[in-house]
Amino acid sequence: TGQFFVGGNWKCNGTKQQVAQLLEQLNKGKVDSSIEVVIAPTFIHLPHVLDTADSRFEVGAQNCWSSGTGAYTGEISAEQLADLGVKWVILGHSERRSLLKESNEFVGEKTAYALSHGLRVIACIGETLEQRESGQMYNILDAQLEALANQISDFDNVVIAYEPVWAIGTGKVATPDQAEEVHLHIREWFTERIGEKDAEALRIVYGGSVNEKNAAELAAKEDVDGFLVGGASLKADAFVTICNAHT
Ligand code: 13P
Repeated sequence: TGQFFVGGNWKCNGTKQQVAQLLEQLNKGKVDSSIEVVIAPTFIHLPHVLDTADSRFEVGAQNCWSSGTGAYTGEISAEQLADLGVKWVILGHSERRSLLKESNEFVGEKTAYALSHGLRVIACIGETLEQRESGQMYNILDAQLEALANQISDFDNVVIAYEPVWAIGTGKVATPDQAEEVHLHIREWFTERIGEKDAEALRIVYGGSVNEKNAAELAAKEDVDGFLVGGASLKADAFVTICNAHT
């Protein structure tokens, strides 16, 4: 529940020209006014996107550092993002957890730091197929949530993205029932932690092979409050259709 939320995670994609073209098409798209939409290009494309995207779209980064500016070669700080006009940051994406070895604790630290510097956070959690099939799914997800809740108590500016690793970029989308089961678990976990009212208001969005065909069925589920879209967010028509899937 809460306002339906759709994020487009562009990942490490796009040339200057492709980004310009995608923006031009997105700006023409008719996204229903009731939906909150965030697009997240690479760091280097952020200034262009901030200048060019219709005000309909909020802009997010895909990562940031766990503390302020300083001697952190190759990193970008939350302050720098906020200074640029970026409103959101995706943290804890499974690609960074696996490829860059980001731990639950590190993701928690980054989340706390970003929130305290005015950014809103799309915090990603998710299990691998092996973890799901060996009955470890809820232990894994709870540990990922625990590491966030250890560092922050106020989740007003957080969206939780449930992204099962086996569904990301595979074309193997979770069924609506599979998504609903986990989203409900996450909401119940938060009900115990932050109380029923705040847990009810928390947006829990699904990510993993969402496309223009499967979005409506997923969006119809009680505890699916939106999406975090990868591949399909690079196609303006598909992304607009997904944004409007809830209406
Ligand atoms: P795909 O939509 O390409 O499966 O990616 C999902 C994702 O990782 C969004 O963050």
